Amino acid sequence: MRSLSRSNRHFQKASTRLPLGVSSNFRYWGDDKTIYVERGKGGRVWDIDGNEYIDYRLAYGPVILGYADDRVDAAAREGMNVGGVFALSTELEFDVADRISRMVPSAELVRFSNSGTEAVMAALRVARAFTGKDGHVVVEGGYHGVFSEVMWYSEVEDWSPADGDPEVLPYGDGVPAVTRQLIDTVPLNDANALEDLLRKKHNQIGAFLVEPIMGNCCALTATTQYMKDVRELCDRYDVLLVIDEVKTGFRVARGGVQELFGVNADLCTFAKAIGNGYPLAVVAGREDVMRRIGDSVVHGGTFTAHSVSLAAAAKTLEILDETTALADIEAYGLKLQQGLARILDARDIAHSFTGAPALMGLFFAEQAPGNYREWVNSDYEFYDALAPELHEQGILVEPDSREPWFLCESHNVGCLDETLDKFERAVDITLPKLRTSNRTAGGPEKQ
Ligand code: PLP
Repeated sequence: MRSLSRSNRHFQKASTRLPLGVSSNFRYWGDDKTIYVERGKGGRVWDIDGNEYIDYRLAYGPVILGYADDRVDAAAREGMNVGGVFALSTELEFDVADRISRMVPSAELVRFSNSGTEAVMAALRVARAFTGKDGHVVVEGGYHGVFSEVMWYSEVEDWSPADGDPEVLPYGDGVPAVTRQLIDTVPLNDANALEDLLRKKHNQIGAFLVEPIMGNCCALTATTQYMKDVRELCDRYDVLLVIDEVKTGFRVARGGVQELFGVNADLCTFAKAIGNGYPLAVVAGREDVMRRIGDSVVHGGTFTAHSVSLAAAAKTLEILDETTALADIEAYGLKLQQGLARILDARDIAHSFTGAPALMGLFFAEQAPGNYREWVNSDYEFYDALAPELHEQGILVEPDSREPWFLCESHNVGCLDETLDKFERAVDITLPKLRTSNRTAGGPEKQ
Protein backbone atom coordinates (compact mmCIF):
# COMPACT_ATOMS: atom_id res chain seq x y z
CA MET A 1 0.00 0.00 0.00
CA ARG A 2 1.20 3.47 -0.88
CA SER A 3 1.66 5.76 2.10
CA LEU A 4 0.07 9.20 2.05
CA SER A 5 0.98 9.99 5.65
CA ARG A 6 2.83 13.19 4.84
CA SER A 7 0.09 14.37 2.48
CA ASN A 8 -2.47 13.54 5.18
CA ARG A 9 -0.55 15.57 7.77
CA HIS A 10 -0.20 18.43 5.34
CA PHE A 11 -3.90 18.29 4.62
CA GLN A 12 -4.65 18.89 8.32
CA LYS A 13 -2.31 21.90 8.31
CA ALA A 14 -3.47 23.27 4.94
CA SER A 15 -7.11 23.06 5.99
CA THR A 16 -6.46 25.61 8.72
CA ARG A 17 -5.83 28.27 6.07
CA LEU A 18 -7.35 26.96 2.82
CA PRO A 19 -10.96 25.72 2.48
CA LEU A 20 -10.70 21.94 1.94
CA GLY A 21 -6.92 22.38 2.15
CA VAL A 22 -6.64 23.12 -1.57
CA SER A 23 -6.99 25.93 -4.13
CA SER A 24 -9.64 24.31 -6.32
CA ASN A 25 -12.50 22.14 -5.03
CA PHE A 26 -11.65 19.44 -7.59
CA ARG A 27 -8.24 18.85 -5.97
CA TYR A 28 -9.82 17.68 -2.74
CA TRP A 29 -10.10 13.89 -2.91
CA GLY A 30 -11.04 13.27 0.74
CA ASP A 31 -9.29 14.03 4.05
CA ASP A 32 -7.00 11.00 3.72
CA LYS A 33 -6.72 10.88 -0.08
CA THR A 34 -5.82 14.43 -1.04
CA ILE A 35 -2.41 14.40 -2.68
CA TYR A 36 0.18 17.17 -2.37
CA VAL A 37 2.73 17.27 -5.16
CA GLU A 38 6.44 17.74 -4.70
CA ARG A 39 7.25 18.08 -8.39
CA GLY A 40 6.48 16.94 -11.90
CA LYS A 41 8.79 16.12 -14.78
CA GLY A 42 7.86 14.75 -18.18
CA GLY A 43 4.81 12.53 -17.87
CA ARG A 44 5.33 11.85 -14.17
CA VAL A 45 4.65 13.48 -10.82
CA TRP A 46 6.01 12.76 -7.35
CA ASP A 47 3.97 13.47 -4.23
CA ILE A 48 5.42 14.71 -0.94
CA ASP A 49 5.44 11.12 0.39
CA GLY A 50 7.80 10.17 -2.45
CA ASN A 51 5.20 8.18 -4.42
CA GLU A 52 5.82 8.31 -8.16
CA TYR A 53 2.96 8.36 -10.66
CA ILE A 54 2.63 8.25 -14.41
CA ASP A 55 0.17 11.07 -14.78
CA TYR A 56 -2.80 10.84 -17.16
CA ARG A 57 -4.57 13.85 -15.61
CA LEU A 58 -1.90 16.36 -16.57
CA ALA A 59 -3.54 19.17 -14.64
CA TYR A 60 -6.78 18.56 -16.61
CA GLY A 61 -5.04 19.13 -19.90
CA PRO A 62 -2.53 21.98 -19.94
CA VAL A 63 0.51 19.73 -19.94
CA ILE A 64 0.81 18.73 -23.58
CA LEU A 65 4.59 18.28 -23.84
CA GLY A 66 5.40 17.21 -20.29
CA TYR A 67 5.94 18.80 -16.90
CA ALA A 68 8.88 21.19 -16.61
CA ASP A 69 9.65 20.94 -20.31
CA ASP A 70 13.18 22.30 -20.74
CA ARG A 71 12.41 24.06 -24.04
CA VAL A 72 9.32 25.83 -22.73
CA ASP A 73 10.86 26.69 -19.37
CA ALA A 74 13.89 28.26 -21.08
CA ALA A 75 11.54 30.42 -23.14
CA ALA A 76 9.55 31.33 -20.03
CA ARG A 77 12.78 32.45 -18.33
CA GLU A 78 13.40 34.78 -21.25
CA GLY A 79 9.84 35.99 -20.82
CA MET A 80 10.69 36.83 -17.20
CA ASN A 81 13.47 39.10 -18.39
CA VAL A 82 10.90 41.09 -20.36
CA GLY A 83 9.28 42.22 -17.13
CA GLY A 84 5.86 40.65 -16.73
CA VAL A 85 2.97 43.06 -17.20
CA PHE A 86 3.03 46.75 -18.05
CA ALA A 87 -0.53 47.86 -18.71
CA LEU A 88 0.96 48.20 -22.20
CA SER A 89 1.42 45.71 -25.00
CA THR A 90 4.45 43.84 -26.33
CA GLU A 91 5.37 42.71 -29.85
CA LEU A 92 5.17 39.05 -28.93
CA GLU A 93 1.37 39.29 -28.65
CA PHE A 94 1.14 39.65 -32.41
CA ASP A 95 3.51 36.73 -33.04
CA VAL A 96 1.51 34.36 -30.85
CA ALA A 97 -1.82 35.60 -32.23
CA ASP A 98 -0.52 35.15 -35.75
CA ARG A 99 0.63 31.60 -35.02
CA ILE A 100 -2.80 30.78 -33.58
CA SER A 101 -4.56 32.19 -36.64
CA ARG A 102 -2.39 30.11 -38.93
CA MET A 103 -3.04 26.94 -36.92
CA VAL A 104 -6.79 27.53 -36.46
CA PRO A 105 -8.34 29.09 -39.57
CA SER A 106 -11.51 30.32 -37.79
CA ALA A 107 -9.36 32.32 -35.35
CA GLU A 108 -9.08 35.33 -37.63
CA LEU A 109 -8.65 37.70 -34.69
CA VAL A 110 -7.34 36.83 -31.26
CA ARG A 111 -7.48 38.30 -27.76
CA PHE A 112 -5.62 36.90 -24.75
CA SER A 113 -7.08 36.10 -21.35
CA ASN A 114 -5.63 34.27 -18.36
CA SER A 115 -7.97 31.34 -17.86
CA GLY A 116 -10.52 29.31 -19.76
CA THR A 117 -13.23 30.82 -17.59
CA GLU A 118 -12.30 34.34 -18.66
CA ALA A 119 -12.06 33.38 -22.32
CA VAL A 120 -15.52 31.76 -22.38
CA MET A 121 -16.93 34.69 -20.44
CA ALA A 122 -15.51 37.04 -23.07
CA ALA A 123 -16.82 34.90 -25.94
CA LEU A 124 -20.36 35.01 -24.55
CA ARG A 125 -20.14 38.76 -24.03
CA VAL A 126 -19.00 39.31 -27.61
CA ALA A 127 -21.75 36.99 -28.87
CA ARG A 128 -24.38 38.93 -26.95
CA ALA A 129 -23.10 42.20 -28.33
CA PHE A 130 -22.91 40.92 -31.89
CA THR A 131 -26.33 39.29 -31.99
CA GLY A 132 -28.12 41.60 -29.56
CA LYS A 133 -29.43 38.48 -27.81
CA ASP A 134 -28.49 37.60 -24.21
CA GLY A 135 -29.24 33.89 -23.98
CA HIS A 136 -26.97 30.94 -24.67
CA VAL A 137 -27.40 27.20 -25.12
CA VAL A 138 -25.03 24.63 -23.67
CA VAL A 139 -24.82 20.87 -24.08
CA GLU A 140 -25.89 18.62 -21.20
CA GLY A 141 -22.82 17.41 -19.32
CA GLY A 142 -20.69 20.31 -20.56
CA TYR A 143 -18.50 22.44 -18.34
CA HIS A 144 -17.26 25.87 -19.30
CA GLY A 145 -15.67 27.31 -16.19
CA VAL A 146 -16.52 29.02 -12.95
CA PHE A 147 -18.66 32.02 -13.85
CA SER A 148 -22.32 32.17 -13.02
CA GLU A 149 -23.80 32.23 -16.53
CA VAL A 150 -22.47 28.72 -17.22
CA MET A 151 -22.56 27.24 -13.72
CA TRP A 152 -25.72 25.25 -14.39
CA TYR A 153 -25.83 21.53 -15.04
CA SER A 154 -28.35 18.95 -16.14
CA GLU A 155 -29.10 16.56 -13.31
CA VAL A 156 -29.13 13.12 -14.93
CA GLU A 157 -27.94 10.90 -12.10
CA ASP A 158 -31.43 10.55 -10.58
CA TRP A 159 -33.22 11.04 -13.87
CA SER A 160 -35.09 8.68 -16.13
CA PRO A 161 -36.36 9.34 -19.67
CA ALA A 162 -39.94 9.18 -18.37
CA ASP A 163 -39.22 12.41 -16.42
CA GLY A 164 -38.93 14.51 -19.60
CA ASP A 165 -35.91 16.79 -19.86
CA PRO A 166 -33.48 16.62 -16.93
CA GLU A 167 -33.70 19.36 -14.34
CA VAL A 168 -31.15 22.17 -14.70
CA LEU A 169 -29.49 23.01 -11.38
CA PRO A 170 -26.80 25.44 -10.23
CA TYR A 171 -23.31 24.13 -9.47
CA GLY A 172 -23.67 24.81 -5.74
CA ASP A 173 -24.77 27.85 -3.80
CA GLY A 174 -23.99 31.43 -4.70
CA VAL A 175 -24.92 31.15 -8.37
CA PRO A 176 -27.56 33.88 -8.86
CA ALA A 177 -30.94 32.40 -9.81
CA VAL A 178 -31.32 35.19 -12.34
CA THR A 179 -28.57 33.66 -14.51
CA ARG A 180 -30.77 30.58 -15.03
CA GLN A 181 -32.89 32.69 -17.35
CA LEU A 182 -29.94 33.06 -19.73
CA ILE A 183 -29.21 29.38 -20.26
CA ASP A 184 -30.87 26.49 -22.10
CA THR A 185 -29.53 22.97 -22.40
CA VAL A 186 -29.73 20.34 -25.12
CA PRO A 187 -28.39 16.78 -25.38
CA LEU A 188 -25.33 16.16 -27.53
CA ASN A 189 -25.88 14.60 -30.95
CA ASP A 190 -29.53 15.57 -31.13
CA ALA A 191 -29.81 18.33 -33.73
CA ASN A 192 -33.61 18.10 -33.60
CA ALA A 193 -33.55 19.15 -29.95
CA LEU A 194 -31.46 22.21 -30.84
CA GLU A 195 -33.72 22.98 -33.78
CA ASP A 196 -36.87 22.76 -31.62
CA LEU A 197 -35.33 25.08 -29.09
CA LEU A 198 -34.12 27.62 -31.63
CA ARG A 199 -37.41 27.59 -33.45
CA LYS A 200 -39.12 28.64 -30.21
CA LYS A 201 -36.50 30.90 -28.66
CA HIS A 202 -34.10 32.10 -31.33
CA ASN A 203 -35.01 35.70 -30.60
CA GLN A 204 -33.47 35.31 -27.14
CA ILE A 205 -30.46 33.11 -27.93
CA GLY A 206 -27.19 34.59 -29.12
CA ALA A 207 -24.78 31.67 -28.76
CA PHE A 208 -24.60 27.90 -28.90
CA LEU A 209 -21.65 26.86 -26.74
CA VAL A 210 -20.34 23.39 -27.45
CA GLU A 211 -17.35 21.09 -27.04
CA PRO A 212 -17.50 18.56 -29.90
CA ILE A 213 -15.31 16.31 -27.75
CA MET A 214 -16.63 16.85 -24.23
CA GLY A 215 -13.52 17.27 -22.14
CA ASN A 216 -15.41 17.16 -18.86
CA CYS A 217 -17.90 14.48 -19.78
CA CYS A 218 -16.13 11.25 -20.64
CA ALA A 219 -14.87 12.70 -23.94
CA LEU A 220 -18.34 12.02 -25.37
CA THR A 221 -17.99 12.86 -29.02
CA ALA A 222 -20.25 14.65 -31.46
CA THR A 223 -20.80 13.09 -34.85
CA THR A 224 -19.54 15.01 -37.86
CA GLN A 225 -23.12 15.20 -39.09
CA TYR A 226 -24.23 16.74 -35.81
CA MET A 227 -21.57 19.43 -36.08
CA LYS A 228 -22.61 20.14 -39.68
CA ASP A 229 -26.24 20.35 -38.59
CA VAL A 230 -25.55 22.70 -35.69
CA ARG A 231 -23.41 24.90 -37.94
CA GLU A 232 -26.35 25.19 -40.32
CA LEU A 233 -28.87 25.78 -37.52
CA CYS A 234 -26.74 28.54 -36.02
CA ASP A 235 -26.54 30.25 -39.40
CA ARG A 236 -30.24 29.87 -39.98
CA TYR A 237 -31.28 31.29 -36.61
CA ASP A 238 -28.66 34.03 -36.30
CA VAL A 239 -26.94 32.32 -33.37
CA LEU A 240 -23.16 32.31 -33.02
CA LEU A 241 -21.50 28.91 -32.88
CA VAL A 242 -19.02 29.13 -30.01
CA ILE A 243 -16.71 26.12 -29.86
CA ASP A 244 -15.05 25.77 -26.49
CA GLU A 245 -11.62 24.34 -27.21
CA VAL A 246 -10.22 24.97 -23.74
CA LYS A 247 -9.43 21.27 -23.43
CA THR A 248 -9.24 20.16 -27.06
CA GLY A 249 -7.31 23.12 -28.47
CA PHE A 250 -3.70 22.45 -29.51
CA ARG A 251 -4.18 18.91 -28.21
CA VAL A 252 -6.40 16.79 -30.47
CA ALA A 253 -4.96 18.34 -33.65
CA ARG A 254 -2.96 21.43 -34.64
CA GLY A 255 -6.22 23.13 -35.55
CA GLY A 256 -8.05 21.61 -32.58
CA VAL A 257 -11.38 19.93 -32.71
CA GLN A 258 -12.48 22.26 -35.53
CA GLU A 259 -9.87 20.65 -37.77
CA LEU A 260 -10.98 17.15 -36.77
CA PHE A 261 -14.63 17.89 -37.55
CA GLY A 262 -14.07 20.19 -40.50
CA VAL A 263 -16.23 22.87 -38.92
CA ASN A 264 -15.48 26.54 -38.32
CA ALA A 265 -16.71 28.30 -35.21
CA ASP A 266 -17.80 31.93 -35.17
CA LEU A 267 -15.98 32.23 -31.87
CA CYS A 268 -13.69 29.77 -30.15
CA THR A 269 -11.89 29.64 -26.84
CA PHE A 270 -8.54 28.13 -25.90
CA ALA A 271 -6.47 27.81 -22.73
CA LYS A 272 -4.82 24.73 -21.20
CA ALA A 273 -2.37 23.29 -23.74
CA ILE A 274 -1.52 26.62 -25.32
CA GLY A 275 1.34 27.27 -22.88
CA ASN A 276 2.13 23.77 -21.61
CA GLY A 277 0.87 24.81 -18.17
CA TYR A 278 1.74 28.50 -18.09
CA PRO A 279 -1.52 30.42 -17.66
CA LEU A 280 -2.76 31.85 -20.93
CA ALA A 281 -6.14 31.70 -22.63
CA VAL A 282 -7.57 32.95 -25.87
CA VAL A 283 -10.87 34.10 -27.26
CA ALA A 284 -10.73 34.17 -31.04
CA GLY A 285 -12.98 34.09 -34.07
CA ARG A 286 -14.47 35.66 -37.14
CA GLU A 287 -13.10 39.10 -37.86
CA ASP A 288 -16.47 40.87 -38.05
CA VAL A 289 -17.51 39.34 -34.73
CA MET A 290 -14.20 39.93 -32.94
CA ARG A 291 -14.05 43.55 -34.13
CA ARG A 292 -16.88 44.23 -31.68
CA ILE A 293 -14.13 44.16 -29.05
CA GLY A 294 -13.11 47.78 -28.85
CA ASP A 295 -16.30 48.78 -30.62
CA SER A 296 -18.29 49.15 -27.41
CA VAL A 297 -17.43 45.68 -26.06
CA VAL A 298 -14.96 45.62 -23.20
CA HIS A 299 -12.27 42.99 -22.92
CA GLY A 300 -9.14 43.24 -20.80
CA GLY A 301 -7.52 42.34 -17.52
CA THR A 302 -4.41 43.35 -15.60
CA PHE A 303 -2.57 40.11 -16.20
CA THR A 304 -3.57 39.47 -19.81
CA ALA A 305 -0.63 38.65 -22.11
CA HIS A 306 1.88 38.33 -19.26
CA SER A 307 5.34 38.12 -20.78
CA VAL A 308 6.15 34.77 -19.13
CA SER A 309 2.98 33.04 -20.30
CA LEU A 310 3.25 34.54 -23.73
CA ALA A 311 6.85 33.41 -24.17
CA ALA A 312 5.90 29.92 -22.96
CA ALA A 313 3.00 29.84 -25.43
CA ALA A 314 5.17 31.02 -28.30
CA LYS A 315 7.54 28.10 -27.70
CA THR A 316 4.81 25.53 -27.01
CA LEU A 317 2.90 26.44 -30.17
CA GLU A 318 6.10 26.44 -32.22
CA ILE A 319 6.78 22.88 -31.06
CA LEU A 320 3.20 21.72 -31.66
CA ASP A 321 3.10 23.38 -35.07
CA GLU A 322 6.53 22.51 -36.40
CA THR A 323 7.41 19.13 -34.90
CA THR A 324 5.72 15.73 -34.81
CA ALA A 325 4.76 16.18 -31.14
CA LEU A 326 1.00 15.84 -31.69
CA ALA A 327 1.42 12.89 -34.07
CA ASP A 328 3.70 11.23 -31.51
CA ILE A 329 1.11 11.73 -28.78
CA GLU A 330 -1.56 10.26 -31.02
CA ALA A 331 0.62 7.25 -31.83
CA TYR A 332 1.28 6.70 -28.13
CA GLY A 333 -2.44 7.01 -27.42
CA LEU A 334 -3.32 4.40 -30.01
CA LYS A 335 -0.71 2.01 -28.63
CA LEU A 336 -2.01 2.64 -25.14
CA GLN A 337 -5.58 1.93 -26.24
CA GLN A 338 -4.49 -1.27 -27.98
CA GLY A 339 -2.65 -2.39 -24.84
CA LEU A 340 -5.56 -1.59 -22.54
CA ALA A 341 -7.94 -3.36 -24.92
CA ARG A 342 -5.72 -6.46 -24.93
CA ILE A 343 -5.81 -6.64 -21.13
CA LEU A 344 -9.55 -6.06 -20.94
CA ASP A 345 -10.36 -8.45 -23.81
CA ALA A 346 -8.35 -11.20 -22.12
CA ARG A 347 -10.73 -10.87 -19.16
CA ASP A 348 -13.92 -10.46 -21.20
CA ILE A 349 -14.44 -6.96 -19.91
CA ALA A 350 -16.52 -4.96 -22.38
CA HIS A 351 -15.02 -1.56 -23.10
CA SER A 352 -14.82 1.28 -25.60
CA PHE A 353 -12.87 4.48 -26.09
CA THR A 354 -14.18 7.95 -26.88
CA GLY A 355 -12.66 11.26 -27.93
CA ALA A 356 -9.23 11.40 -29.48
CA PRO A 357 -6.12 9.50 -28.41
CA ALA A 358 -4.67 12.64 -26.74
CA LEU A 359 -7.88 13.13 -24.73
CA MET A 360 -9.65 9.85 -24.35
CA GLY A 361 -12.57 8.45 -22.42
CA LEU A 362 -12.51 4.84 -21.27
CA PHE A 363 -15.89 3.13 -20.92
CA PHE A 364 -16.74 -0.23 -19.58
CA ALA A 365 -19.42 -0.90 -22.18
CA GLU A 366 -19.27 -2.18 -25.75
CA GLN A 367 -20.77 1.01 -27.06
CA ALA A 368 -19.88 4.38 -25.60
CA PRO A 369 -22.81 6.64 -24.77
CA GLY A 370 -23.78 9.22 -27.39
CA ASN A 371 -24.74 11.83 -24.83
CA TYR A 372 -24.87 12.52 -21.12
CA ARG A 373 -28.37 11.08 -20.73
CA GLU A 374 -27.12 7.74 -22.05
CA TRP A 375 -24.10 7.92 -19.74
CA VAL A 376 -26.46 7.28 -16.79
CA ASN A 377 -27.08 3.81 -18.14
CA SER A 378 -23.43 2.95 -18.58
CA ASP A 379 -21.58 0.97 -15.95
CA TYR A 380 -19.20 3.35 -14.23
CA GLU A 381 -19.01 1.21 -11.08
CA PHE A 382 -16.02 -0.68 -12.44
CA TYR A 383 -14.20 2.53 -13.37
CA ASP A 384 -14.93 4.01 -9.94
CA ALA A 385 -13.46 0.93 -8.27
CA LEU A 386 -10.49 0.71 -10.64
CA ALA A 387 -9.32 4.34 -10.34
CA PRO A 388 -8.20 4.16 -6.68
CA GLU A 389 -6.38 0.91 -7.42
CA LEU A 390 -4.58 2.60 -10.32
CA HIS A 391 -3.49 5.32 -7.89
CA GLU A 392 -2.11 2.63 -5.57
CA GLN A 393 -0.16 1.22 -8.49
CA GLY A 394 1.22 4.62 -9.47
CA ILE A 395 -1.05 5.54 -12.37
CA LEU A 396 -2.80 8.85 -11.88
CA VAL A 397 -6.25 9.12 -13.46
CA GLU A 398 -9.23 11.13 -12.29
CA PRO A 399 -11.32 9.26 -9.70
CA ASP A 400 -14.46 10.40 -11.56
CA SER A 401 -15.06 8.50 -14.80
CA ARG A 402 -16.39 11.67 -16.43
CA GLU A 403 -12.89 13.10 -16.66
CA PRO A 404 -10.94 11.77 -19.65
CA TRP A 405 -7.34 10.61 -19.73
CA PHE A 406 -4.83 13.17 -21.01
CA LEU A 407 -1.61 12.28 -22.80
CA CYS A 408 1.55 14.29 -23.36
CA GLU A 409 4.63 14.07 -25.56
CA SER A 410 6.80 12.86 -22.66
CA HIS A 411 4.69 9.74 -22.15
CA ASN A 412 6.53 8.40 -25.15
CA VAL A 413 9.60 8.04 -22.98
CA GLY A 414 9.30 4.75 -21.15
CA CYS A 415 5.71 4.98 -19.90
CA LEU A 416 3.83 2.50 -22.08
CA ASP A 417 4.90 -0.90 -20.73
CA GLU A 418 4.87 0.34 -17.17
CA THR A 419 1.37 1.76 -17.59
CA LEU A 420 0.08 -1.48 -19.07
CA ASP A 421 1.70 -3.67 -16.37
CA LYS A 422 0.23 -1.53 -13.64
CA PHE A 423 -3.15 -1.31 -15.33
CA GLU A 424 -3.27 -5.11 -15.60
CA ARG A 425 -2.38 -5.49 -11.93
CA ALA A 426 -5.01 -2.93 -10.92
CA VAL A 427 -7.69 -4.73 -12.97
CA ASP A 428 -6.81 -8.06 -11.39
CA ILE A 429 -7.02 -6.59 -7.90
CA THR A 430 -10.29 -4.74 -8.62
CA LEU A 431 -12.24 -7.56 -10.27
CA PRO A 432 -12.44 -9.95 -7.27
CA LYS A 433 -13.19 -7.06 -4.90
CA LEU A 434 -16.08 -5.97 -7.05
CA ARG A 435 -17.39 -9.52 -7.36
CA THR A 436 -17.38 -9.87 -3.57
CA SER A 437 -19.10 -6.54 -2.99
CA ASN A 438 -21.69 -7.29 -5.66
CA ARG A 439 -22.41 -10.66 -4.12
CA THR A 440 -22.75 -9.06 -0.66
CA ALA A 441 -25.09 -6.47 -2.09
CA GLY A 442 -27.00 -9.14 -3.97
CA GLY A 443 -26.17 -7.36 -7.21
CA PRO A 444 -25.31 -8.96 -10.53
CA GLU A 445 -21.87 -10.43 -10.84
CA LYS A 446 -19.44 -8.51 -13.03
CA GLN A 447 -17.68 -10.18 -15.84
N1 PLP B 1 -14.05 25.32 -20.75
C1 PLP B 1 -13.72 24.03 -20.70
C2 PLP B 1 -14.15 23.12 -21.81
C3 PLP B 1 -12.98 23.52 -19.64
O1 PLP B 1 -12.65 22.24 -19.62
C4 PLP B 1 -12.59 24.40 -18.61
C5 PLP B 1 -11.82 23.91 -17.48
O2 PLP B 1 -11.60 22.75 -17.27
C6 PLP B 1 -12.95 25.75 -18.70
C7 PLP B 1 -13.67 26.17 -19.79
C8 PLP B 1 -12.51 26.71 -17.65
O3 PLP B 1 -11.13 26.89 -17.73
P1 PLP B 1 -10.30 27.40 -16.48
O4 PLP B 1 -10.30 26.31 -15.47
O5 PLP B 1 -8.94 27.69 -17.04
O6 PLP B 1 -10.96 28.63 -15.98
